[in-house]
Amino acid sequence: MTIKQPSRLDWAGLGWMFLFFWYFSGVTQLLILLSDSAGFTGFRQSALVSTLWMIPLILFPARMRWLAAMIGIPLWICSLAGFGYFLVYGQEFSQSVIFIMFESNQSEASEYLMQYFAWWMVPLFIGYGLGAWLLWRKLRPVYLPWPKAIFACLLLFTLSLGYTVTRQLIINADSHRALDKIEDRLEPATPWQLIVGYHQYRQQLSNMQAMLKNKNSVAPVKHLSDARAGLPSTLVLVIGESTNRQRMSLYGYPRQTTPNLDRLRNQLDVFDNVVTPRPYTIEALQQILTFADQENPDRYLTTPSVVNLMKQAGYKTFWITNQQTMTKRNTMLTTLSQEADKQVYLNNNREQNARQYDDDVLKPFDNVLADPALRKFVVVHLLGTHMNYQYRYPPEYEFFTDRRGVPPNVTDHQLSTYNSYDNAVRFNDQVVSTLIEHFAATKPDGFLLYLSDHGEAVFDPDHPDVLGRSEGAPTAPMYTVPFIIWRSPSWKAHQQLDLASMTSRPYSSAHFIHTWANLAGLHFDELDYSKSLVSTQYQVHPLLIGNPEHPKNLIDFSEISPGLSQPLAREKEIAKSARRKTINSHL
Ligand SMILES: [Zn+2]
Repeated sequence: MTIKQPSRLDWAGLGWMFLFFWYFSGVTQLLILLSDSAGFTGFRQSALVSTLWMIPLILFPARMRWLAAMIGIPLWICSLAGFGYFLVYGQEFSQSVIFIMFESNQSEASEYLMQYFAWWMVPLFIGYGLGAWLLWRKLRPVYLPWPKAIFACLLLFTLSLGYTVTRQLIINADSHRALDKIEDRLEPATPWQLIVGYHQYRQQLSNMQAMLKNKNSVAPVKHLSDARAGLPSTLVLVIGESTNRQRMSLYGYPRQTTPNLDRLRNQLDVFDNVVTPRPYTIEALQQILTFADQENPDRYLTTPSVVNLMKQAGYKTFWITNQQTMTKRNTMLTTLSQEADKQVYLNNNREQNARQYDDDVLKPFDNVLADPALRKFVVVHLLGTHMNYQYRYPPEYEFFTDRRGVPPNVTDHQLSTYNSYDNAVRFNDQVVSTLIEHFAATKPDGFLLYLSDHGEAVFDPDHPDVLGRSEGAPTAPMYTVPFIIWRSPSWKAHQQLDLASMTSRPYSSAHFIHTWANLAGLHFDELDYSKSLVSTQYQVHPLLIGNPEHPKNLIDFSEISPGLSQPLAREKEIAKSARRKTINSHL
């Protein structure tokens, strides 16, 4: 028996093959395109790149169905990440999302997934899989004589990868840059989305490790002088997590979510116009804790961090963290923390139990305060109000349980999440205020500054369906962070700064290191007083948000929240004229 070979090329057979492999990237890309959340490039690239998988089917038509299933199943599984992310956010899955997943440990990552998982996704995932199965049933072998088959495969390879790879290698002298560009082109298609994201994450991580390894070769700041040189001082930086100041009664939220800070208010300077540049922990802290900012995002690799800076100024440095660093894993956070003289990693039991409360930091904090060193710099990194919110406070701290004080947009289904976030904010208030009180009780010469790495959207009235954070679909609550300073009476006595007059200045925490150095009484060549929130030379800089790897897409925070950032009219004009890179077609 001879195999029947059609005399004409079976275009329809090829068409079904293409459709089958296109499906795993194309459905999500089509949804992205139709919802107008991104341009056409991703859609086109995903279609081109998907043709790669047709090659084995053409080479081995007799095993076509089996091969298609063996390739299709992994593609389907890999594509669920992007598909699911679109369902929740209406945006394209990005490598920043992968960053978050890998930066977290496994239980953190599964919490993250749970947070975004809703029952209605199950039928959609099944329906999506069913579509692939129906297409698979339509597949039929396409027999080509060998010369034609080879030619077709070469053509498909050129279309999917060959052209891009060759072109980028030719036009880019630098092979790293070429690889970046190639990855850019592949990324819209599954499974490259995950592979490229992971590769870029690894690259970033090894950069961080190299930074740590070569930290001695990072040039110290130049001409450092210290107004407090040789005198005792204890300076505390408390970094919060996922806390949106608009949900704190300290900032006017009607529910009493911060009773303790409210009580301490007359001892605090409460800055009400600070936003983070990026809504993700690592990306935000890369800028907050170093000289990097939205315009110079890579400077965290080549300039001192705030820990380096304080060491250079002669401080003994401590890093207490309740973040996901359970076994001193080589994560980016750990890398940052390793620069300190002493680390306390508290997040050890997370495999067994996802609950982790920030009051764990109090005991090590007291120990550090008791350390005999004359000059101490202490970083306390909280888990704050990170999802899952109900895991951030002990059950007996459940305070908000009903609809009282809840805006009408919150549905019955959303209510428990909404309440658990407020409860987490309330517990965070307990922790931060206790840190301040324990610090104050030691009668220190120094100050404590608290800010959150970024905010969090939790069914807020302006965007009633948004939960969590997404740089691709930014809303104000993801960016508006608390920023408060407690100064000891003795510190106030020798540092004559009228902070109260500065609290409504618009400010991006990307420039935080300038504020910190200024407050600490340090002076050096790199210090830019115009970027210090507490300087008389302060100037309004644009509050740039977005991914700085795509500078054209950076926008000013006021564009997503005209009502919130309320600089004085004149300052607003300055900010406007200083801002030239706006307009983001994605928004
Ligand atoms: Zn964070």
